[in-house]
Amino acid sequence: MKQGSLSINSENIFPIIKKWLYSDHDIFTRELVSNGCDAITKLKKLSLIGEAELPDDNEWKITVRINPEEKTLTFIDNGIGMTEEEVEEYINQIAFSGATDFLAKYKDKASEDQIIGHFGLGFYSAFMVAHKVTIDTLSYKPGAQAVHWESEEGMEFSMDASDRTERGTEITLYLNEDSYEFSNEYRMKEILEKYCSFMPVPIFFEDETKPVESPVVDAKVSEDGTATEEAKEEKKPEPLNEIFPLFMHTPSECTEEEYKEFYRKVFHDYKEPLFWIHLNMDYPFNLKGILYFPKINTEYDSIEGTIKLYNSQVFIADNIKEVIPEFLMLLKGVIDCPDIPLNVSRSALQNDGFVKKISDYISKKVADKLSGMYKTERESYERCWDDICPFIKFGCLKDTKFCEKMKDFIIYKNLDGKYVTLPEYLENASEAKADGEEKAKKTVYYVTDERQQSQYINMFKEAGTDALIMTHNIDQPFITQLEQDNDTCRFLRIDADVAEAFREEGSEEELAKETEALTALFRRVLCKEKLTVKVEKLKNAAIASVITLSEENRRMQDMMKMYGMSNFGDMDMTNETLVLNAGNSLVQYVFENPSGANTDIICEQLYDLAMLAHKPLDAEAMTKFMERSNRILGMLI
Ligand code: ADP
Ligand code: MG
Repeated sequence: MKQGSLSINSENIFPIIKKWLYSDHDIFTRELVSNGCDAITKLKKLSLIGEAELPDDNEWKITVRINPEEKTLTFIDNGIGMTEEEVEEYINQIAFSGATDFLAKYKDKASEDQIIGHFGLGFYSAFMVAHKVTIDTLSYKPGAQAVHWESEEGMEFSMDASDRTERGTEITLYLNEDSYEFSNEYRMKEILEKYCSFMPVPIFFEDETKPVESPVVDAKVSEDGTATEEAKEEKKPEPLNEIFPLFMHTPSECTEEEYKEFYRKVFHDYKEPLFWIHLNMDYPFNLKGILYFPKINTEYDSIEGTIKLYNSQVFIADNIKEVIPEFLMLLKGVIDCPDIPLNVSRSALQNDGFVKKISDYISKKVADKLSGMYKTERESYERCWDDICPFIKFGCLKDTKFCEKMKDFIIYKNLDGKYVTLPEYLENASEAKADGEEKAKKTVYYVTDERQQSQYINMFKEAGTDALIMTHNIDQPFITQLEQDNDTCRFLRIDADVAEAFREEGSEEELAKETEALTALFRRVLCKEKLTVKVEKLKNAAIASVITLSEENRRMQDMMKMYGMSNFGDMDMTNETLVLNAGNSLVQYVFENPSGANTDIICEQLYDLAMLAHKPLDAEAMTKFMERSNRILGMLI
């Protein structure tokens, strides 16, 4: 029996392992299971190059066994095992990384499979949850002697001969009182699902206190009384993990149904994803993954995606924002990149140029997929557009490269419910020079609320003028950016002015005169000192009055609202213009009879009707409007 202290100041290292290195205690599971995977990968390689002999019925496997009564947890693999010297070197001299050592020795002989864990402290993470850890291991080497190792608190160890007869390693954790949860079946299965779902070796779960499960076999028994093939197969326990997950497959070999099923299984989301992007690259770095665009029903801000990051099929973390461009954090997906260190500290990632490259690559791939869809599957592109456009616009705002790639493929729904690009819309747009501007710009009219702005929409439709539907929160900042990027067009909300197309040729002089007279009249009747009135001649004589709201002022108001300044008092008023149609008979009547018996009531009603079509009336105005309307009806009898 051999005893000793663990080298390399373990007193200094353990507090680090316990507190700093792993904030999630459950991560020891990942470390021990991945060590088992490594041990199997190593032996596989040795057998490939003819340096190890395997039995014919060899089946690679890792078993995780709990004992809730004894409060122990055991990890068993049938990998390479360790000789006494190896335990001495790899376990006792903890600063050594066995993986590095192994790779250095064999790297020219076998294909470069990744060996997990570059750190060399993984095994000791067991002491985060256990006061005592034992190892029983038998090396694959012919004639090897099995070794038993044990240590309390990871400070001192003893080594001895073991009675283990099977090749491989068995590690038992005697759990600390505050870590008993790890001997609970549900807790352990949950942890295994989190970290080990895609590890490359089948993982089986056992509860030592329960008899080995033999699933009920139904009456599928053949005539001679023996169980049929089908029934026999049912008895075989299922591994918990998927050793060859979909994202590792060649994209051309994956079916739509497989992608959907993978999505359901991994994200427990039973709504179908809109579409997905399978990432698969070997150069200049190795990266595989699938990104799903989820179907979103709720408002844009309240959703959160999940991107799971893996290193050679071993889970690292969720939602590492340094790796995923911010605007894609709303997606759901998995990314496997063997070059990202397993023990990532987020601050280390921030300064990593390599990580930035990954993020750029992902962003580029998403843009490629979308532009490809636009070009070849325009129909499905349009079908998803409403759901995906917030991501895309957000991406354009956040990432200039993405914006550059995507800008020609942004589409807008028009008043006919068809999708057009901005250049397509501009083809039919009229050009005008605004006050103080040097050159004429094309006007892009847009709708922010189809219901509230329906009156204006009807006017536009009648006049054959088009507008774009832009109802998302993201649209306002997006419009601002569009205007900055193209100085040939200006965006006006549909109620911002009376479009050229509605106006009839008329005498400017005449209109100015009417404007002056009606301004005075309406201000007096409505008791609104600052009311702005403008008389225009509109083609549609049925329209009497319309409210317009200057784009500039409205945007300012919107901005103030966004910053929580909601009370505008009078300011709100002064921005609105009451447009009266000189061609309408009611307007003509009040112009010609400023002191007529019913003039006041007509003015009030014209104003309220215009307002109603513009925005909801406040309570007081609504009450008055109802009373007056009833009075007008009374006049009809
Ligand atoms: P790393 O995996 O980064 O090398 P660990 O602390 O996890 O660091 O493991 C240290 C070393 O101990 C490994 O490199 C390996 O040589 C050895 N080892 C650990 N677990 C096993 C195992 N289950 N089978 C064989 N060797 C193992
Ligand atoms: Mg390890």
